[in-house]
Amino acid sequence: MPGFEFFGEEERKEVNEVLETGILMRYGFDGPRKGIWKSKELEQAVCDTFGTKYAQLTSSGTAALTTAMAALGVGAGDEVIMPAFTFVASFEAILSMGAVPVLVDIDETLTLSPAAVKAAVTSRTKCIMPVHMCGSMADLDALKAICDEHNLILLEDACQSIGGSYKGKALGTIGHAGTFSFDFVKTITCGEGGVVMTNNQEVYTKADAFTDHGHDHLGIDRGADLHPMLGYNFRISELHAAVGLAQIRKLATFLAIQKKNNHILRTYIEQLPGISFRVVPDPAGDSGSFLTWFLPSKEKMEIAIDALKAAGIFAGNFYWFANNWHYIKKWDHLKNVNSLYPLNEAQQTALVKLQTTSFEASDAIMSRCVSTAISLIWTEEQVHAKGAQFLKVLKEALS
Ligand SMILES: *Cc1c(COP(=O)(O)O)cnc(C)c1O
Repeated sequence: MPGFEFFGEEERKEVNEVLETGILMRYGFDGPRKGIWKSKELEQAVCDTFGTKYAQLTSSGTAALTTAMAALGVGAGDEVIMPAFTFVASFEAILSMGAVPVLVDIDETLTLSPAAVKAAVTSRTKCIMPVHMCGSMADLDALKAICDEHNLILLEDACQSIGGSYKGKALGTIGHAGTFSFDFVKTITCGEGGVVMTNNQEVYTKADAFTDHGHDHLGIDRGADLHPMLGYNFRISELHAAVGLAQIRKLATFLAIQKKNNHILRTYIEQLPGISFRVVPDPAGDSGSFLTWFLPSKEKMEIAIDALKAAGIFAGNFYWFANNWHYIKKWDHLKNVNSLYPLNEAQQTALVKLQTTSFEASDAIMSRCVSTAISLIWTEEQVHAKGAQFLKVLKEALS
């Protein structure tokens, strides 16, 4: 999964070009930067690679989600429907806009259940945010239909699914806007970074200004820029963009390895009686960064995990159900509204309500689900050996 496994000469070369000019900022200093514009180059590469008209880099994936919502006009009191299984960044971004996160059940796509979304739509709903978890995708046709019916914004959190696609289009380029994270463990890394993608020029122009204190970026003199709107500083630095530029050029290689290793591993694991796999709405578009599998019950999964741990081969496998970062069950800080500053009333009410909301449908899925991360540095022999050992341990444990 992570691009950091392939960090090397190419990244060092790009970073050194920035270090040689000493211009670490993405804007201004036109003379001294000697034609080095790594952030601009990376934005163009994102457009070319993923087939989006516009790309705005940010300082993180969380900042990208925040920026996208700002540019799409999601703010105080607006409800944003998001899945109960995701990374904490999803609700962080929503809360930072003054908007209200509405958490709903997932289905076996491991993200928003269209039925649960439908049931959660109210007159205050503004946006639906599917999170394409673990390299694969949401049921986008079904979610788009709900958005169309109720005139809602579709914002794709594709932070974990760089290189995945749905019916021929890159994940993150299908909704009104979409985001990637380039943090250290994502498929492409900048160290820290993110991007907002959109095909709407107005959304892009707003995102561009929002990430840089509202600068309109129209003149050649940064000091003379106008500020048509309020913004923040969510800028990426040239050093980070330089790393991402080297990484994006290797994406095709990362994906080819991921898909191959994923496929080999699956040929072993699928031999286990009773096993099933995550529902992938468009199997051709799975980026392959994880192989996500289910056992028939929570009890069986716990036995399997204990056996894998005892055999010393559980590392790189994620039991999200018991994980602090990714599933509602452990988000006590959210449910208890442990905020350093006062949240607005609508937000507080929504969060307290989570204490008593049932996520039974999600529990039933997550408690029998494990994702196996696919490494880029496994050799083919290693993948075969891992698959065979995995299958042997699981067969013995579950027989
Ligand atoms: C990583 C991630 C983010 C946010 O990324 P950061 O760059 O770490 O802020 C958002 N959503 C999901 C699903 C992620 O996995």
